Amino acid sequence: MSYVEFLYELLEIYPDPESEKAIMGSVVYCIHHKQGCQWSDELRKLKAHLNTCKHDAVLCAAQCGAMIPRVLMQDHLRYTCPRRRANCEHCHKEFSGSALEEHQGNCGHEPVYCENKCGAKVQRRHTQQHLQQHCSKRLVPCRHCGQRYTQDTVAAHGATCARAPVPCPQRCAAAPVPRDELDAHLRDHCAAAGVACAYRDAGCRFKGTRAALERHTEESCQQHLALVAALAARQARQLEALRAAVARLALPATGALVWRLPDWAAKMADAGAKEGASLFLNGNGAGEGTHMSVYIKILPGEYDALLRWPFAHTVSFTLFDQSSSPDRACNIVESFVPDPTWKNFQRPSKEPDALGFGFPRFVSHEMLKKRNFVKDDVMFLRVKVDPSKIVAV
Ligand SMILES: [Zn+2]
Ligand SMILES: [Zn+2]
Ligand SMILES: [Zn+2]
Ligand SMILES: [Zn+2]
Ligand SMILES: [Zn+2]
Ligand SMILES: [Zn+2]
Ligand SMILES: [Zn+2]
Repeated sequence: MSYVEFLYELLEIYPDPESEKAIMGSVVYCIHHKQGCQWSDELRKLKAHLNTCKHDAVLCAAQCGAMIPRVLMQDHLRYTCPRRRANCEHCHKEFSGSALEEHQGNCGHEPVYCENKCGAKVQRRHTQQHLQQHCSKRLVPCRHCGQRYTQDTVAAHGATCARAPVPCPQRCAAAPVPRDELDAHLRDHCAAAGVACAYRDAGCRFKGTRAALERHTEESCQQHLALVAALAARQARQLEALRAAVARLALPATGALVWRLPDWAAKMADAGAKEGASLFLNGNGAGEGTHMSVYIKILPGEYDALLRWPFAHTVSFTLFDQSSSPDRACNIVESFVPDPTWKNFQRPSKEPDALGFGFPRFVSHEMLKKRNFVKDDVMFLRVKVDPSKIVAV
């Protein structure tokens, strides 16, 4: 409660003239002392002061209904009173205060930043036109490939666009061609491009325009023939080297096959056959019943077309003596050089061939029993084809 309110309360408590006189004579400050009014006088003069005190609130002069301190009335009428008259700073039209607030943010003349963030500021009423026609961030189709790019990058794209026409680097008379067709132009159509001679692989180094190449081809028959002949000779030598390499590969790496024969006793009566070699433990032909016979047979292989025929390698059979002391061991070795005229050593066909070539009396049964050819019921027989000993054909 302020001091002045306190005094007015006293007036109600003591309504007698004496008390009233005393109270109304009290010296008080203006009720707007805190807002800065310096007035101070007897309470009875306060009412009159408030009629002119610049801090006292009065009804808005424009009748907007607001209570405004006199000192702020000018500002209120100019800037905040909803009934004030004001001009839009952009379009300069006059509005009432409330209408202006609505108008702000919608004025067509107000410059605003482009929503595509191109950095441009255009009047609101022109933004659509800007977005469609002028904005550097609007999408435009590349006129060569049709892909869409922002307007400020489409030119840079044109420098690499596959469909943009570029002049022929050979400066031929043809119209500019799309970039992605330039290779084909240079290769197939350009009249000025250098074309390699058709005998390039044979060693001709000529390169020139289409017209020059035609002349060159006509004039160079002799040279081209010589190049082709030399190429054929080189290729023949290469083919020969290749044949030799393939012949080596067609044999087992060592040219030898070691045949381990387990269950010797059980097989004694049977004949075995493996990888082109045949073995008759109980003999065959001239050795039947008394000897073990071995034969070699030529089987078809995947490199046959490249190999020399007839078959002309030295073939040897070795039966290993498995004696525990190596110096006492005595292997049985038999070898032969095939007779090239014999039909079994001609190039093999798919026809089953009963028997190859070999030794019907390779080792006698008597000898087999004498030495350690069979040990732990296992026998080792090596069939070796020696590719280094080729018989001349
Ligand atoms: Zn005052
Ligand atoms: Zn007002
Ligand atoms: Zn406006
Ligand atoms: Zn823009
Ligand atoms: Zn393009
Ligand atoms: Zn060209
Ligand atoms: Zn040539």
